[in-house]
Amino acid sequence: VSGGGVAAFSDARPFQFGYADAAHDVKKKKVVVLGTGWAGTSFLKSLKDPSYDVHVISPRNYFAFTPLLPSVTNGTVEARSIVEPIRSIVRKKKFDVHFKEAECYKIDTVNKKVCCRSTQENNLGGSEEFTVDYDYLVVAMGARANTFNTPGVVEYAHFLKEVEDAQRIRRTVIDCFERASLPTVSEEEKKRILHFVVVGGGPTGVEFAAELHDFVNEDLAKLYPALKQHVKITLLEAADHILNMFDKRITEFAEEKFQRDGIDVKTGSMVVKVSDKEISTKERSSGKTVEIPFGMVVWSTGIGTRPVIMDFMKQIGQTSRRVLATDEWLRVEGCDSIYALGDCATINQRKVMEDIAAIFSKADTNNSGTLKVDDFKGVIKDIAERYPQVQIHLEKNQLRNFLQLLKSKDGDDELNIEKFKQALAEVDKQMKSLPPTAQVASQQGVYLADCFNRMDICEKYPEGPIRFRAAGRHRFRPFRYKHFGQFAPLGGEQAAAQLPGDWVSIGHSTQWLWYSVYASKLVSWRTRLLVISDWGRRFIFGRDSSR
Ligand code: FAD
Ligand code: MG
Ligand code: MG
Ligand code: MG
Ligand code: MG
Repeated sequence: VSGGGVAAFSDARPFQFGYADAAHDVKKKKVVVLGTGWAGTSFLKSLKDPSYDVHVISPRNYFAFTPLLPSVTNGTVEARSIVEPIRSIVRKKKFDVHFKEAECYKIDTVNKKVCCRSTQENNLGGSEEFTVDYDYLVVAMGARANTFNTPGVVEYAHFLKEVEDAQRIRRTVIDCFERASLPTVSEEEKKRILHFVVVGGGPTGVEFAAELHDFVNEDLAKLYPALKQHVKITLLEAADHILNMFDKRITEFAEEKFQRDGIDVKTGSMVVKVSDKEISTKERSSGKTVEIPFGMVVWSTGIGTRPVIMDFMKQIGQTSRRVLATDEWLRVEGCDSIYALGDCATINQRKVMEDIAAIFSKADTNNSGTLKVDDFKGVIKDIAERYPQVQIHLEKNQLRNFLQLLKSKDGDDELNIEKFKQALAEVDKQMKSLPPTAQVASQQGVYLADCFNRMDICEKYPEGPIRFRAAGRHRFRPFRYKHFGQFAPLGGEQAAAQLPGDWVSIGHSTQWLWYSVYASKLVSWRTRLLVISDWGRRFIFGRDSSR
C-alpha cells in the first residue's frame, strides 16, 4: 500500500485503486465524471493514462469560461466566445471519452452507479432516463445560486451563474429601455422600469454593477438620450462593506468609485422579499423595512449545495454538514472510490492539535518520550507537507525563529509532549477553507488527474521505482492550493487586483493586466481569438444594443 510517510500522520487512507486483484489487464477501469465546469474540464484535460474508460455526464455539452460571464450581460463579449464544446475539448485524447448530455439526479453508492435524466423532452413528453455504473466517480457538478430561502427570488430575480442567465439579463436590460421608451409610460413608471438592483456586494455583483453602469453610460445613453436621467443602479449588501474578501484599500477604492459613478451602494441592508415590481429590504441601522420599486433585479449572494448532493450526503452519513466533505486527497469522506472537487465540495482539513500525539511519536524516533530540536527539524518537512497551516506558519515566522521558540529559556532543548503542544498551539489558526473559485476548481482537477495518471506506478511500486523516488512521484501528496491572486473589475477601464504577499494594484494598468491574464486563461485558441476580437469590436464600435 502506497501513501508514504505523510499518511502516517493521520488516519488518511491511501488512494484505493483496484489493481490489487491483478485483473487489471482484462477490464479497463471505468471513470465517470459528473460536470463539465472548471473542475471536471480541468480533470479531463489533464487525464493522460489511456487505461481508463471515461464517461462524462453533464446537462450542458460545453465548458463555460465563467469569469467573462459579467461581460456577456451587456454584450462586451458574445456568449459564443466564452464557451467551448466538451466534445471538442476531449477529441484529441488518446483514450475514448463518452459524453452524455444529462443531469445526474441520484448517486447510488451501494450499487456503484449514477442515475441520470436527459434534459431534453422525448416524444412521449417525458425525458430519457438511464443509469451508468462506475469504478471511480468524480463529482464535479458545482453549486447552485443561494437564495437563503428569500421569498420571490426564484420567481422574480435573475441569477448570474450560467451562460443562459447572462443572455437573459442582456435581453431584459434592453427590454426595460424599450418599454420605458413607449409613449404611454408615465415618468414614475419610467423611473421604476429603469431601476436596476443588484443584490450582493461580492466580486460578481460588483463587477456586474460596474459593467451595467458602463453599458448605460457609454452606449445606451447615446441611443436613448431621453431616458438617461431616469436610470438608476443600486447595489444592496447585507454586510458593512462591499468586496469583503478583498484588502481594505480595494474596498475603499471601489466604494468611492461607485459613489462618483452614481451607483447607489446600500450596505447593511438585507433583502427579505422580492415581488414582481418591488424588493423589500430590512435596514440594519434603522430596523425598518423599505420597499424599493425596480425594473430588474440580479441576485448574486453566493452559492449553496445542489439537492442531488444533499441527498448523496444523507446516504453516506454526512448529515451534519452543509457542504460535501472530502479529505485532502479529494476523496469523499465515508465512501470508497468517489472523489469530489470544485464548488460542490470542501476539504475537511485536519488540525495539528488533533494529531499531536501521532506527530510527536513519529518525530521521537528512539521512543524516549522527549524530542531534541534536531529531531524535530528532521520531520518538519513532512509535517508541513501534510498540514498546510504549518507551512503558512513557517513562511510567516521563519524556521529559525520557530525552532528558537521551541527551546526553553533555561537553554534546555529537550521537548516533552506538553512543550511540543505549546510550540504548535498557534499553528491551527492559519487554517482557511478554500474559496469557491475557478482557480481552486481547476487546480483540483489537475491534481486529481495527476493522481489518476500515477495510480498504476504507485500501486506496483509502493517504494517507487528509483527515478520516481527522488521526485517523490511514487507517493500521493495531499492537494495543495497555490493562490495567484484575485481581480475585481470596477468599470471605466479600471480594475483592482490583490496578488499574493498583500500586493494590491488598482487602476487602468490593472485593467490591462486583467485583459491579458484572462485572455491567456481561455481554454482554446478559438475562444481566445473570439474574445479578443469582441474586445476590439467594442473599443471601435461600442456594444451591440439590439436584442
Ligand atoms: P461549475 O463550473 O459550476 O461546473 C459545474 C458543472 O456541473 C457544469 O458543467 C454543470 O452543467 C454540471 N452539472 C450541474 N448539475 C449537474 C448534475 N445534476 N449532473 C451532472 N452535471 C451537473 N472564479 C475565479 O476564480 N475567478 C473569477 O473571475 C470568477 N468569476 C466568476 C464570475 C461569475 C459570474 C461566476 C458565476 C463565477 C465566477 N467564478 C470565478 C467562480 C467559478 O466559476 C467557480 O468557482 C467554478 O465554476 C467552480 O467550478 P466547478 O467545476 O466546481 O463548477
Ligand atoms: Mg466541473
Ligand atoms: Mg464553469
Ligand atoms: Mg456551478
Ligand atoms: Mg470547493
